[in-house]
Amino acid sequence: MLTRVKPLLRKIFEFFFPYYLFVTGKIRNVKKASSEGKVILSVFFHNPKKDLFESLIKWFIENHYNFISVDQLYEIYAKDKPFPVNAVLLTVDDGWKENKDNLVAVANKYNIPVTIFINTDPIKNGDGYWVSYLNHKSIQTVKSHSVDSLKKINNSDRVKIIDELKSMISIPREALTIDELKKIQSANISLGAHTITHPFLVKCTDEEAQHEIKGSRDILENWLGSKVDTFAYPFGNYGDRELALVKAAGYKMAFSTISDYITKESIKGIYKIPRFEVVETASVLENICRMTGAWYEIESKFKKAISKQLL
Ligand SMILES: [Zn+2]
Repeated sequence: MLTRVKPLLRKIFEFFFPYYLFVTGKIRNVKKASSEGKVILSVFFHNPKKDLFESLIKWFIENHYNFISVDQLYEIYAKDKPFPVNAVLLTVDDGWKENKDNLVAVANKYNIPVTIFINTDPIKNGDGYWVSYLNHKSIQTVKSHSVDSLKKINNSDRVKIIDELKSMISIPREALTIDELKKIQSANISLGAHTITHPFLVKCTDEEAQHEIKGSRDILENWLGSKVDTFAYPFGNYGDRELALVKAAGYKMAFSTISDYITKESIKGIYKIPRFEVVETASVLENICRMTGAWYEIESKFKKAISKQLL
């Protein structure tokens, strides 16, 4: 019975929680902190539908937010400048082919800066991202691995498992092409690196980690003929070694998936800038709560209270 009750409760929770955040003034508080230049909102996407992306951009515009680029953020850090008021930074991970129409076109329409972090192998090979092989419907019944289980094993073992799946399943191109990368790079759209094979970096050997971090930069610079100096950790997975390798590879800044605001304190960690994740299957309202950080602030507390009361 519990197994049936839980998903229903989650649905109810996910429906009412955003309203709770609005009604209790949580969103208002975040907007106040932005308007006073205390925080910069940092939001990241993967492969949003056009409607969702445009709705969220419109919400920022209607609420008087100003979009800043990664270069502007770096200048704030390097010159210890005051935070601009109502600032928001948008980044995107992986380089999905749909980004071109659903995201780049919208960014250009509203003239806003976006940085896309590119995972180079799917671009070069014209196949799928490795998680897509793992989640492919044809192997669901015989599946013995998950993203979580592969997170626990050595990188070379993960590569073997994925290579085996690739020999059984064919997935058409999921990533942008090199030509498209060249075309979308513009005054609005900048490109950063996101490794070669999208590994769990902490499960790589020193040589593998170095190759993934520095190699993806070299590949991108070669394709684009321009400097690439920003990086995002796949799955937000990194440790002290990765921070050092990213710095040594010559990147000026890197992005984590820590759900937090950019503050005067957190910007000091220029190689692990926090970002709030947009959940692309969730509603616009829920994502407004996520993008403004209001969601994360009390989600766990609220969920704990609910499960104590009802389960
Ligand atoms: Zn990624």
